[in-house]
Amino acid sequence: MIELRHLSKQFDELTVLHDIDLRIRSNEIVVLLGPSGSGKSTLLRCINLLEDPSSGSMQVGDALWVHTMSAAEKKKAVREIRKRTGMVFQSFNLFPHLTAIENVMIAPMTVKQIAKSQAYEIAESLLAKVGLADKKDVHPSRLSGGQKQRVAIAQSLAMEPQIMLFDEPTSALDPELTGEVLSVMKQLALDGMTMIVVTHEMKFAKNVANHIIFMSDGVIQEEAPPETFFAQPKTERARKFLHQLT
Ligand code: ATP
Ligand code: MG
Repeated sequence: MIELRHLSKQFDELTVLHDIDLRIRSNEIVVLLGPSGSGKSTLLRCINLLEDPSSGSMQVGDALWVHTMSAAEKKKAVREIRKRTGMVFQSFNLFPHLTAIENVMIAPMTVKQIAKSQAYEIAESLLAKVGLADKKDVHPSRLSGGQKQRVAIAQSLAMEPQIMLFDEPTSALDPELTGEVLSVMKQLALDGMTMIVVTHEMKFAKNVANHIIFMSDGVIQEEAPPETFFAQPKTERARKFLHQLT
């Protein structure tokens, strides 16, 4: 489903991702852990080509991006890969002047040229899926943080991505609102979505992930099922990381 080969990312002199090799199969839920500054967000942003990797190649479904492609080929590859990836950030990037349902409808209408009535139907069912059927005509300013984040998830799903990338989706939320977002994500996982999730929610990591990837200093240090990773981390870095959480 996703394969990264020798992917690196530099910002000027600073190498943030070193030669990342990563394969994620369809329906797999990967939780990406690592200390602050280890490159987790940069890795997600590279996967969706919000950042331009400095070298390597990447395949998402049947879309391929290779660093050595021409500018024109890359531009096409970026479009194809973006189509296949949805991303949810810590801050909810909703349009404040649009209602919840309009926020979900906008991309299918403008990017996919789907008719308004059909976009409305899709958005309505997605809002129901994230538990917000009754909030469809409300503007973001009148939604709680957890509700806004659920609209943002519906908004991403409206583009029918093959993989969802979550970058600390609950970090900006009050603890009592975190659960409602995590349970939508868990349902999405049960429905078979392929997901990479950066989160500090270890319970989610233990219960929902098939795979934990632990990064530090821009390198994948460990990759293991949660049972193994949490019980027997192999590296000193991971042990220290887990110790600091408790
Ligand atoms: P956190 O847990 O704090 O979110 P992270 O693991 O997501 O951290 P990244 O945001 O990927 O870490 O950052 C990795 C490194 O890359 C950091 O040293 C950061 O300062 C650097 N970095 C990230 N974005 C840029 C940028 N646009 N320009 C220069 N350096 C950057
Ligand atoms: Mg980050």
